[in-house]
Amino acid sequence: MQFVILRSNKYQESIYGYHQENNESAHSDRRAGDFCELQEADVAIDELVHLRGELPAEVAILEEELAGLRAKSEKIGQMIEGYNATIDNANKQIVELDAEIEKYRSQLENISNSREFDSINKELENQGLLRAIAEKNITDARAAIEERKLDRERIADRILIREEDLKAKQEELATIVESTAKEEKALQAKRSACAAKIDERTLSAYERIRGNAHNHLAVVTLFPKHEDGTYGDACGGCFHTITPQRILDIASGKKLVICEHCGRIIVNPDI
Ligand SMILES: [Zn+2]
Repeated sequence: MQFVILRSNKYQESIYGYHQENNESAHSDRRAGDFCELQEADVAIDELVHLRGELPAEVAILEEELAGLRAKSEKIGQMIEGYNATIDNANKQIVELDAEIEKYRSQLENISNSREFDSINKELENQGLLRAIAEKNITDARAAIEERKLDRERIADRILIREEDLKAKQEELATIVESTAKEEKALQAKRSACAAKIDERTLSAYERIRGNAHNHLAVVTLFPKHEDGTYGDACGGCFHTITPQRILDIASGKKLVICEHCGRIIVNPDI
């Protein structure tokens, strides 16, 4: 990255001198200061959130996994219900078939010719076949139920383990949140107070820039800061050089200066 830093003390004096002479008007427009304070609060809140580390993400992953396992278990329950319905139907069918078979058998005792005998035997054979199929369906369904029950037990074990994991993570997270809750509440209040002083459009620009800036800093100062307290003429976010007119605007604090290159808000921290 190449950037030019023009260090001109005379220039700095002139812009900050301007600020000092116009202290009153600068004071009446506290926008730059509000932005600095807003960002300070946001950065501090970010740090608190950062303390929670991966815990919120881990909690979310565990919750998702548990929801998936519970859904699977429920689906298995529905499958078992389906198999039980198959067994009930097959049992009913067997009762009906037995009645039919019984009827044909009694008919066999009173047959008058061989044709009738053949016909009834054929029926008996068919009913017997249907009965065997129904019995096989019952056996298969029972085996499937046993298998599904084993699956469900395995899932239930995993649910128990994951529930323990989730509980531990949630407690850990709650402890951190609780220990920082007071501080976070104070910061949120400070943030709201600062945000209330900034108009909605500018505030939404700030939020947008903050979301886009990789370090979440939407408000920067000029760069670099010299030992004597004066500033260079580069944007503190992207280090591109700022035009003299805009530097004057920044120094006065009267206008909101947005960096043309990175979109960050550049403020004079002394206002
Ligand atoms: Zn910039």
